[in-house]
Amino acid sequence: MILKKENVQNLLDELSKSALVFVPKEVDGVLKFAPFKSADEMTLDIINTTLPPKDLLFPQTQKMYRYGIDADGKMYVDPSDDSAEQVVFGIRTCDMQSIVCMDDVFLTKGFVDEFYQAKRDKLLTVAIGCNKVAETCFCDSMGLDPQNSPTADIQLLEGDDAYSVVAQTEKGEKALESWKPFLSEGSVEVPKIECALKVDMTGVKDKLDRMFDHPIWEELSAKCLACGTCTYVCPTCHCFDISQENKMKDGVRFRCWDSCMFSEYTQMAGDHNPRPTKKERLRNRFMHKLCFFEDRYGKTLCVGCGRCVEKCPVSVDITCLIDQIGEFDV
Ligand code: SF4
Ligand code: SF4
Repeated sequence: MILKKENVQNLLDELSKSALVFVPKEVDGVLKFAPFKSADEMTLDIINTTLPPKDLLFPQTQKMYRYGIDADGKMYVDPSDDSAEQVVFGIRTCDMQSIVCMDDVFLTKGFVDEFYQAKRDKLLTVAIGCNKVAETCFCDSMGLDPQNSPTADIQLLEGDDAYSVVAQTEKGEKALESWKPFLSEGSVEVPKIECALKVDMTGVKDKLDRMFDHPIWEELSAKCLACGTCTYVCPTCHCFDISQENKMKDGVRFRCWDSCMFSEYTQMAGDHNPRPTKKERLRNRFMHKLCFFEDRYGKTLCVGCGRCVEKCPVSVDITCLIDQIGEFDV
């Protein structure tokens, strides 16, 4: 089945009647996934958004519950659920894989994050295969295929005038029922592509297991500004802090994104900090991406989106680090 490009507006208008539909577009100069209004505003042809769509499942700030003392003098706790049916239209392979990683963190190993789960259960993922790559993309070195997101509910491939449409999950098959008026028979021609930027992950994890005290961490962290940009643009970074705001007899507890690149991240009561300098913090970030996550979940926490490579103001580059590790004899 194909979806002609001229029908995308009508399809998304229809989907918007029963769900919040998010598409890649520019908002205040930033490319991100934002609510759909018009096909003219969409930037489906861009390679990747500056900000990943992780906030659809894991908002930058999320209310968890209200609490306080009611009119009868009794304590109350009122859990918050702001989940709603959502569609992410135009997600790319790297960001789809980042959802797989976040699913691991928030839904497995006996820990289920109810806030994440409520949003995840109501999210329909519609992936579009990439027909071109940015110079910072390296997803295929991380075991992914830029034109295929096997865990997406629906996979689109882009031809000249239309997208091919394939449902890949039960949820996707059900969703396609409502797409039928906008689909037709046909097929599309898709160019074969691969990333120009390559890294060789062979043996990297094994070497990192032996590199906790390696001098590379001191050297690499010397130029880091501890700005946290890498963690905020990363689709797989998922750390958060919990705080509260109180007003008279009521309060709100909320969580918001945190960054392991900030010194306060591991600051403890009594002023002890197990990661006291940039060296320990940068080491932790890269070890978590390329080593610790694999120990726990069997996959790397870097999906090769290249955002941190592009956005780090001082060019701390995970691909250069991987190259360096390959050359070390450790
Ligand atoms: S973006 Fe670069 S400078 Fe900023 S915290 Fe990350 S590695 Fe350091
Ligand atoms: S570490 Fe960098 S390249 Fe890897 S997923 Fe995060 S932002 Fe993308």
